[in-house]
Amino acid sequence: MVSSHMFNITQEHEMIRQAARDFAQNEVAPIAAEFDESGDFPLETIRKMGEMGFMGIEVPEKYGGAEMDTLAYVLALEEISKADASHGTIMSVNNSLFCYAIMKFGTEEQKRKYLMPVASGQKIGAYSLTEPMSGSDAGTMRSLAKLEGDYYILNGRKSWVTSGPVADFVIVFMMTEPEKKHHGVTAFIVEADKPGFIRGKKEPKMGIRASATSEILYENYKLPVANRLGDEGMGFKIAMTVLDAGRIGIASQSLGIAEAAYEASLAYVQEREAFGKKIGQFQGISFKLADMKTRIEASRLLIYNAAMAKEKSKKTGQRYRDAKITEIYEGTSEIQRLVISRLETGLR
Ligand SMILES: Cc1cc2nc3c(=O)[nH]c(=O)nc-3n(C[C@H](O)[C@H](O)[C@H](O)COP(=O)(O)OP(=O)(O)OC[C@H]3O[C@@H](n4cnc5c(N)ncnc54)[C@H](O)[C@@H]3O)c2cc1C
Repeated sequence: MVSSHMFNITQEHEMIRQAARDFAQNEVAPIAAEFDESGDFPLETIRKMGEMGFMGIEVPEKYGGAEMDTLAYVLALEEISKADASHGTIMSVNNSLFCYAIMKFGTEEQKRKYLMPVASGQKIGAYSLTEPMSGSDAGTMRSLAKLEGDYYILNGRKSWVTSGPVADFVIVFMMTEPEKKHHGVTAFIVEADKPGFIRGKKEPKMGIRASATSEILYENYKLPVANRLGDEGMGFKIAMTVLDAGRIGIASQSLGIAEAAYEASLAYVQEREAFGKKIGQFQGISFKLADMKTRIEASRLLIYNAAMAKEKSKKTGQRYRDAKITEIYEGTSEIQRLVISRLETGLR
């Protein structure tokens, strides 16, 4: 088991982990199966999670968040996902994709108007990059935003939007200059209750069924220039930066799911009997449990380490900028490799 001192898990971290664990087991776990079956969005518990500070864990208090670090975020998300992966997904998109994007790239006005209500859980945020014909290769998106005076006119079809059926605000990525490809993508913050914002069909899913997913269509949606997130053409960079940061959250979600599966399996093998023994006494079964536990602990080490590294990189950004040049001057790292390999092999 990973001990607290290995990762500077402070008293504050323990407190949020315990609060998330209690909330997850008392409020989320009991309703998880029912919401999984119906596919309804668990708005009531999500609002409560907002009140607990779980919907904007890294957001400064002045913008409605809990003002904690990445490790606190992964610890809480792990506990929520352990009780129900759907709640974990909704929490993850709200924190990692919506709040983080505005925290990092938004103006003061955007932070007050959009970050505050979403970080406090009063409103739901979504992130919308994917299109029916544009997934991993996001630079091929077709949705268009055309500048007309003080407004952008948005047109397009976005798919697979987590929380799409219920989101109040969406960060959407559209082409402003299609001929520039990746460099022609711009990010916007849109409000759902405006003309031209059309929620499409809700996707039926095999898992995370209470996390609603849908298409969103834009038909001549008129958006003030003040709602542009970052500069024109910066959208692709924003999209990728946000996804990079969000991946730690996805990893802690999968850790929570794995732990729940492990605990259920453990309880079953200790109770179920066959051939006069608990099935956990058969080596073939007990080895599976041992392998599960090993992988869970290895993942935990990686995830907590990644969370600490992300936190550290915020503080040591200065050294990173200084260190970078040593990979470039007097021969780049690639050239150094070339020199060494030629010297060693004597070949050119
Ligand atoms: C439940 C759910 C929720 C989602 N939520 C959101 C959301 O909130 N916001 C959002 O914007 N998007 C969301 N998505 C979309 C998700 O990000 C995309 O599904 C994902 O990026 C993959 O795109 P795709 O499905 O179009 O697959 P494709 O990009 O078409 O890929 C198809 C297959 O080809 C493989 N492939 C593609 N390119 C390469 C390559 N260069 N090398 C090797 N293999 C490759 C892929 O790995 C995959 O196996 C969601 C999707 C799902 C299923």
